[in-house]
Amino acid sequence: MNIIINGTTYEVEKNTTILQACKNAGIDIPTLCHDERLKPTSACRLCLVEVEGTKNLVTSCSTMVKENMVVHTHNEKVMKTRRDVLNLAISNHPLECLSCDKSGDCKLQDYCYEYGILNGTYKGAMRTPKIDSSNPFYDYDARKCILCGLCVRVCDELQCSNAIGFEDRGFEANVSTPFNEGLINSKCVSCGNCVSVCPVGALTPKGQKFRHWETSKVRTTCSYCGVGCQMDLVVKGKKIVDVEPAMDAINNGLLCVKGKFAYKFINHPDRLKTPLIKRNGKFEEATWDEAYRYITKKATEIKENYGPNSFAGLTSARCTNEENYLFQKLFRAVIGTNNIDHCARL
Ligand code: SF4
Ligand code: SF4
Ligand code: SF4
Repeated sequence: MNIIINGTTYEVEKNTTILQACKNAGIDIPTLCHDERLKPTSACRLCLVEVEGTKNLVTSCSTMVKENMVVHTHNEKVMKTRRDVLNLAISNHPLECLSCDKSGDCKLQDYCYEYGILNGTYKGAMRTPKIDSSNPFYDYDARKCILCGLCVRVCDELQCSNAIGFEDRGFEANVSTPFNEGLINSKCVSCGNCVSVCPVGALTPKGQKFRHWETSKVRTTCSYCGVGCQMDLVVKGKKIVDVEPAMDAINNGLLCVKGKFAYKFINHPDRLKTPLIKRNGKFEEATWDEAYRYITKKATEIKENYGPNSFAGLTSARCTNEENYLFQKLFRAVIGTNNIDHCARL
């Protein structure tokens, strides 16, 4: 069907939302609660557009296109309403952008800049400070929560843990756990998928301290298991400071607790970086050549004295398929035993 957006006619598929049609046409509509993977809820009201013939502005994320629909995405009425929506969103928001960990990667901050919202027109009460820091990996700061609902929906619809929901109504509404017992006592499995979708600094990884503009991203494959989730390592200098799930990949923007949060071993001072050989009862650092020579010598002695079945090989899901293939080849073809297993079966 044909629709007219800002005076230009576009051909679009049936069952397309106005938001999607605009995206296909290269027209940017602001959203705070939209995620293509989730059912639309029209919660943030920022994606409002004008459709000729309708009394009120409509939410483009949940309104389907119709034949010959005439849409205005950036006229004066729409822009003024979006400014009002942003003004209301920050009316009880602690504007701590100077020290907020999310600064530089915050959709609310970006849209306020884009729409020229400086300090907020509406001044009034602020919400009761409520911080849930009971989870070992991330914190929830209700003062910064804009109630977009993305975290609740991702936990329900994609992660299927259903650990969080909205508590209270109106001004005091916030994200909480059943009986308000804290994330640590909930069904939360600490996957961090809620943290990854939060558009503001309400859900943040614990102890995260960096400025987003100082970082770069490196796409890689998670090495914890065989699923092969894609992720972006957020790198500052030579350190990994955060991990974000890749959207355009098999894991569809999701990770588990290991992929999302278990990266600190990489820069941990206790991490082994060279082989160790025990000499006179003490481990001493060695080169790889020394280590391989030592392993070959010992393995040959053991095989000669006790036979190949005195060996057992245990390999890891954290290795690649190619590494696991080579490991079983070493045991079967070189050492001569089928005693080989894998941590995923244990
Ligand atoms: S959440 Fe965003 S708007 Fe709020 S203080 Fe942090 S950076 Fe600023
Ligand atoms: S960490 Fe995962 S399980 Fe826990 S609340 Fe967030 S999305 Fe739900
Ligand atoms: S915590 Fe973040 S994702 Fe959840 S409702 Fe609040 S702003 Fe939205």
